[in-house]
Amino acid sequence: MTSNTTVYDELGVPTVINCVGEQTRVGGTLIRPEAADAMRRAANAYVHLGDLQARAGELITEVTGAEAGYVTNGAASALTLATAACIAGDSYEIMNKLPRTDDVPDEVVIPSAHRNEYEVAYRVAGARLVSVGMNDLGNGLESVEPWEIQAAITDSTVAVTYVDRPHNQLSLRTVIDVAHENDLPVIVDAAAELPPKENLHRYVEAGADLVAFSGGKAVRGPQTTGILAGRGSLVQSVALQQLPSGTHEDLWDPPRSLIDTESVPGMPRHGIGRPMKVGKEELVGLICALQLFLEEDEREVLQEWNERGKLLSEELRASEGLLVSVLNEKDPNRVTELLVGVDVEGGPDVETLIRALRNEDPRIFVGERTLDSGVFRIVPKNLTTDEARYVVERIRANLS
Ligand SMILES: *Cc1c(COP(=O)(O)O)cnc(C)c1O
Repeated sequence: MTSNTTVYDELGVPTVINCVGEQTRVGGTLIRPEAADAMRRAANAYVHLGDLQARAGELITEVTGAEAGYVTNGAASALTLATAACIAGDSYEIMNKLPRTDDVPDEVVIPSAHRNEYEVAYRVAGARLVSVGMNDLGNGLESVEPWEIQAAITDSTVAVTYVDRPHNQLSLRTVIDVAHENDLPVIVDAAAELPPKENLHRYVEAGADLVAFSGGKAVRGPQTTGILAGRGSLVQSVALQQLPSGTHEDLWDPPRSLIDTESVPGMPRHGIGRPMKVGKEELVGLICALQLFLEEDEREVLQEWNERGKLLSEELRASEGLLVSVLNEKDPNRVTELLVGVDVEGGPDVETLIRALRNEDPRIFVGERTLDSGVFRIVPKNLTTDEARYVVERIRANLS
């Protein structure tokens, strides 16, 4: 349907119309054109990676209010490196052993309600997860109580982690209080919590020690970038375990804003972060995208999403055989989402329709998480108006 040929067409790989939002498997979000251009320019010259990380760190520090900042290979690797920093601190002996943690404290306490499939990121660093609390059966119980977190903390604990999602019952403040009473750092997974941009500094202000954001979601930087902001000593540990160092001890020159050379025994070896490389192009792309994200009018972006959501809901509601409900329709501060069910005599069921859309060229991906309730989901964020119209047309065509 797109008139201009994409690089994917040249490769014979079908493109996707993304009705699912910022999901990595279908490309996340589109990088800002200015950031893509900055990446291309970054590819034309050499730079010392440490100098560039220091510059990115400066920007991250500025916008988050944290002591230090670092660009990682996605928010997931920000969590891995944050964990590695909490386990190893400034010990080269421990850094050199990770992810093995024999005889070394390696437990990360996580409220059960915050567990999710990204927790592999903590384990990659060598951590063992200790989950606390339980699921409420609808009796209105808290899924986790502060005393449960306290009770899970032992001499083997290195950190407490918190995933900021709307369903979390225990406040970040409470988790931070319990952790800090025990001299433990708190890692916050805020990968998908932008916008609003005020979240860039909210967690740090609340006292979080390390916060991870995705650079490839709403920031619209490169897909393989993440932002880590936090305490200087912990970010130093990250830099020691991630930055390539040098080839001769005497000439080791790491960025002083990230690594205080007086405080460490010397040049480190490659650490656990080395396989999670961030290139100069990604660093430049992230810096550029983050600056533009800060300048952008959030309300305007939201309004644009919601206008597209309105178009979709009107068109789909007018279609025979579809049952459409709209989430957040009355709330101008949240993005409109559609849940769509199918009721056509002799027509496809929802699963068949989802599959059929997915097998088209371009492939149309609608949200399938709600499949068990007999509906699919449409998030209008990553669609153009033309694409939204095309999606309606293809849904209609696949009903008969
Ligand atoms: C997206 C996401 C991640 C991973 O972020 P990447 O930048 O893709 O590595 C981690 N945690 C949560 C809660 C997320 O939504």
